[in-house]
Amino acid sequence: MLQPEIRKTVEDFLRTSKDPDLKWLGEENVGCGSVNAAWRVRTSAGDFFLKCNDAFNLPGLFEAESRGLRRLRDTGTLRVPQVLLQTTAGENAFLLMEFVPARDEGDGFFAGFGRGLARMHRNTWKAFGLDHCNYISSIRQSNAPRGDWAPFFIEERLAPLLKSAFDADLLPQNVLKKFDELFRRIPDIIPVEQPALLHGDLWYGNFIRSGGEAVLIDPAIYYGHREVDLAMTKLFGGFHPDFYAAYREEFPLEENWEERVGLWNLYPLLVHVMLFGEEYVPRLLESLERYC
Ligand code: ADP
Repeated sequence: MLQPEIRKTVEDFLRTSKDPDLKWLGEENVGCGSVNAAWRVRTSAGDFFLKCNDAFNLPGLFEAESRGLRRLRDTGTLRVPQVLLQTTAGENAFLLMEFVPARDEGDGFFAGFGRGLARMHRNTWKAFGLDHCNYISSIRQSNAPRGDWAPFFIEERLAPLLKSAFDADLLPQNVLKKFDELFRRIPDIIPVEQPALLHGDLWYGNFIRSGGEAVLIDPAIYYGHREVDLAMTKLFGGFHPDFYAAYREEFPLEENWEERVGLWNLYPLLVHVMLFGEEYVPRLLESLERYC
């Protein structure tokens, strides 16, 4: 059941911002996310999407998510749901946004998605990182800015998760030595790039196919090496080839970018080790071997 305090806060907000005679027509639990409870809220002013969690469980989660959604939306490139309200009610934190109906892909869906992502990646910043911390899934991400990508990727992405996974007894000792070896090699194997605004968690579950358009959800944004977003699309098989072709037409990549997919995906694999346990360790080790 949706907490009455949340419903009241949402009703008050919608009455003020949308319709003074607002009628709440019902809510439907669509709690299919990995981290949060989710609801489709039906009202006389339209449908809304609501994500809730315990306010103390993952502090700042929805604040970071709403900032991420807004930053992506402000680029005017790919579609992103409009954030309406992010607040707490009693012990609950919640995020209210535009409801995006899933509709069949139109022709050219993946080409449009690839082109839009390339345009989004043209948005740059003074450093690699971000002006605030956020989360990837339920794992906190530090985004302390760095002038170079290699130290950012090593110190803000791989090393903290490696430590957490090791402290949780999820990784064998020899993995640390291998990562040390990799850290020494990284600066020599990555091409120089401007910081690019990344979605940060661009797997198949984090966009909605809404007619002809891809709508980005659940971001873990920061300014990083743009190959990272493309690599993430390949973590579980990859998107349609049109996606990559259109991306490259719009914003060309290094010829050998695919050689680094496994390198960038060490980070989401470490995230998977932390979230789902040792079953992801063999895949992590296999990727690691390729770069050591
Ligand atoms: P979590 O953070 O818990 O993983 P997500 O943001 O990924 O949750 O959302 C879970 C699911 O809810 C998505 O896979 C998608 O199907 C649906 N969803 C997310 N945002 C919206 C939205 N704005 N409108 C409609 N459905 C949405």
